Amino acid sequence: MKKLITYVVSVTLISILFMPVMLVSAKVGQKMDVHLIDVGQGDSILIKTPHNKVILIDGGPPKAGKTVVDYIKQQDIHTIDLLITTHPHIDHIGGLPEVLKNIAVKQILDSGRIHATLTYAKYINQIRKQKIPMTIAKANTYIELDPSLSIKILNAHRPFKNNNQSSIALQITYDDIVFLFLGDIEAEQEQKISQRNIIDADFLKVAHHGSKTSSSLAFLERVKPEVALLTYSKKNRYGHPVKQVIENLQRTEAQIYSTAVFGHVTIHTNGKNYLIIPELSPLDGL
Ligand SMILES: [Zn+2]
Repeated sequence: MKKLITYVVSVTLISILFMPVMLVSAKVGQKMDVHLIDVGQGDSILIKTPHNKVILIDGGPPKAGKTVVDYIKQQDIHTIDLLITTHPHIDHIGGLPEVLKNIAVKQILDSGRIHATLTYAKYINQIRKQKIPMTIAKANTYIELDPSLSIKILNAHRPFKNNNQSSIALQITYDDIVFLFLGDIEAEQEQKISQRNIIDADFLKVAHHGSKTSSSLAFLERVKPEVALLTYSKKNRYGHPVKQVIENLQRTEAQIYSTAVFGHVTIHTNGKNYLIIPELSPLDGL
C-alpha cells in the first residue's frame, strides 16, 4: 500500500474542499465513489465506478428502503448496473423491493441462499415480477463491469453454510486502492479468504456489523486496513460492535468510521489517493 493522504472534513466544509479534489482527479484519472448509506442497523453500499457504472451492495432493512432510494436519486443516479445481494437477511434485503420498484436495475448477483421469510419472498417476487436477470455468485471468480477495476468474489454460498456464512464477499481494486466488502461472513470464512488471497486493503467494510462472530485479530492483522467501515445503528439490540472487535481494529491502527457516528460516509478515490467525507461530525452526537 502506498502512503495515502486522508482528509476528514465535516459536511460544512464539503463545498470548499470538494472542488479541488475534482480538479486533481480529473487530471490523473477517473474517480470512483463509494457511499456507505446510513440505513441504521444494516448494510447498503453504493459504488459509482471510474467508468460510471453503478453497483449497489444490499439495501438495508425494510424501513430504510426509502432512504436508499432517495440517497441514490440525490446522486443523480437513475440506473443500477449491478445489484449485489450479499445474503438474505432482513437488514440487507429488506429495503430492496422499494429500490427495485423505484430505480431501474439491470442485473442482480445473488448469494443463491434461499431463506424462508416473508422479507425474502417479497424480494424474490419483485425480481420475478420485473423479470430482472439474476446470477448466482461463485467464489474465486471476477465480476467484469468496469475495465478500471478488478472485482473479485472472495466468498459465496455453498451447501451447509448458514445465511451469514453465505455472504458474498468482494475485493475491489482500483489501481493502488483496495476495498474489502465482507457482508456478514464469519471468522472461518475470513480465515479461508486470507489463506487464498492477498488481502491487505486500504478500506475494510468490517464483517457482520462488528459482531463477535467475525474480525479476529489474526485476520485484521493480515488485512491491515487504513480505514475500517462499520455499519450499525446506535441503539441495536445485538450489542454491535463488540468491544473485542473495536480493540482488534485499534491494534491494527485502523481509523474507524461508522454509520452510527458519522451518518452516510462517502469515499472518493482516483486510485492513488482518497478523500473521506462523513455526513456528520462526532461532535454532533454530544
Ligand atoms: Zn447484517
